[in-house]
Amino acid sequence: MIAAAQPDSLPTPSFDEIAPAVWAWVQPDGSWWINNTGVIAGDDGDVIVDTCATAQRTQAFLRARRRAHRSDTPIRFALNTHQHGDHTYGNSQLPESTVIIGQRHMRAGLATDTVICGCPPFWEPVPQWGDVSLRLPSVSFDRSMELHLGDRIVELHHPGYTAHTTGDAVAWLPAERVLFAGDLVFNGVTPLAFMGSLTGALQSLDWLREFDAEIIVPGHGPVIERSGIDDALEAIADYYRYVQNAGQQGYLLGMTPLDAARTAGLGDYAAMPDAERLVLNIHRHYADMSGTELDIIAAFADAVSFNGGPMTSNL
Ligand SMILES: [Zn+2]
Repeated sequence: MIAAAQPDSLPTPSFDEIAPAVWAWVQPDGSWWINNTGVIAGDDGDVIVDTCATAQRTQAFLRARRRAHRSDTPIRFALNTHQHGDHTYGNSQLPESTVIIGQRHMRAGLATDTVICGCPPFWEPVPQWGDVSLRLPSVSFDRSMELHLGDRIVELHHPGYTAHTTGDAVAWLPAERVLFAGDLVFNGVTPLAFMGSLTGALQSLDWLREFDAEIIVPGHGPVIERSGIDDALEAIADYYRYVQNAGQQGYLLGMTPLDAARTAGLGDYAAMPDAERLVLNIHRHYADMSGTELDIIAAFADAVSFNGGPMTSNL
């Protein structure tokens, strides 16, 4: 395990070899903007899975990669599992020669991102990204593609529908049975589907089960080994069903999404990091029910109200 600098209040990130020459960079505590990434090494270069929100965290990840194995190994490919900044803003810290890959809706989504130019004050302290600029994938795909690193195969798959976002992708190592699931899986952190679909996010959990993985690297939270996978996926499904029930009751009674969240309360999820995401997820349910676009700014403003102040950022 290799540690890197981290705010005093948080444990250090870990860079653990989860299969031969496959590593997971897990950043505690996995809450807002603090994601996981991965490295898959081959004979002639690496694939990395995602970058981080800030230049500093991305550089810490890249240093851990260099220390863990041959330091001169090029990063040939980088997969962005989805468009969100905690997985993509560090793209610009990668070498020019690295080919960045994303599902085509992911690329289109990141192309419209404005938060990279300055984060709105919905979090405290307000996140500072550092020296990053918008860098889009130069290769996009629709449903699946394969990367070949010598004898090692890395499959990239999109579920075929909107789930956490419109352009989610997982990296699957069929020989090692390791699945980098991006934010289709949150482990011990409140799940989020406000820019996607609650029904799609639920459906994607069944799709993930079909991989029959030995190890899942979630987008946030600790790595999940085989014995824990069923329970972890079921816990996420339970949460999304809770959101749907809470949202549907409020929607039928004509409540605002914020009032629906306040009426339902956090239930069993009160102690989970980022519990205020309930409001964002209920906004998603309302948008789906009414067939309207989700107003992202209004949804975040409601989440801040529900939280009683800006949300936590430990960047
Ligand atoms: Zn994320």
